[in-house]
Amino acid sequence: MTAETEPESMTVALLTVGDELLAGETENTNASWLARRLQDRGASLRRIVVVPDELTAIAETLCSLVAEHDAVIVTGGLGPTHDDVTMEAVAQAFDSEMEPHSDAIEWFEHETEYAIPDLVEGTTHLPAGAEFLPNPEGVAPGAKVESVYVLPGVPREMKAMFELIAPAFDGPTATTTVLTSEKPESQLVDVLAETTRRFDVQVGSYPDEMVTIRIQGTNTEAVESAAAWLDSRL
Ligand code: ATP
Ligand code: MG
Repeated sequence: MTAETEPESMTVALLTVGDELLAGETENTNASWLARRLQDRGASLRRIVVVPDELTAIAETLCSLVAEHDAVIVTGGLGPTHDDVTMEAVAQAFDSEMEPHSDAIEWFEHETEYAIPDLVEGTTHLPAGAEFLPNPEGVAPGAKVESVYVLPGVPREMKAMFELIAPAFDGPTATTTVLTSEKPESQLVDVLAETTRRFDVQVGSYPDEMVTIRIQGTNTEAVESAAAWLDSRL
């Protein structure tokens, strides 16, 4: 149970692309890693969506996420091989064409050991008007198109590229306090609801062998007061 509040910080959606994610072959570790990093920076991640490596699915989902969030991060399916269609889908979503990007060409020529004729054709292509994002750990370039950041799927590459754009994601950072209770969750309903009425915090309860209660808010004093009030009632 989490109390609904209006987010004060920038809203972000994450679109993870890959048939292997939907088949359960690859765990979506990019999503949980990015969720933590965004949370640390104070940005409000509102959606995590998984779509297959299909042009139309990616483009249509991206359009709706762009309409509803301040920024969208896309990961996966960047390489120039036949099954990687993400960049093409981003171009389609913005009604633009894929074209050779001068910054990508320059990057390969001056910053890498790769010779452009040796690269798979299309490696230096990005949607027209995109900003080039270098890949510090791999070959496939990333891109920023308006509010959309397109990152690779390989976790090591995704993390390195995210660090380059991390300053774009910020907001008031939240304080979190975690409590536990041995009571069944059903017995905590009233007291948790009362906590959100009394204090400017969000409260989540996560049942397992014990119930974990997460109190969170951007007002540190409110989080501390709520935790003290609630702790004596669990
Ligand atoms: P490349 O540039 O190497 O072609 P890419 O951006 O095209 O990479 P994918 O081909 O989609 O990325 O995936 C590359 C690898 O990263 C695969 O092993 C895939 O399983 C893994 N991967 C992709 N998406 C995720 C994710 N969301 N979480 C964890 N691993 C992922
Ligand atoms: Mg893929």
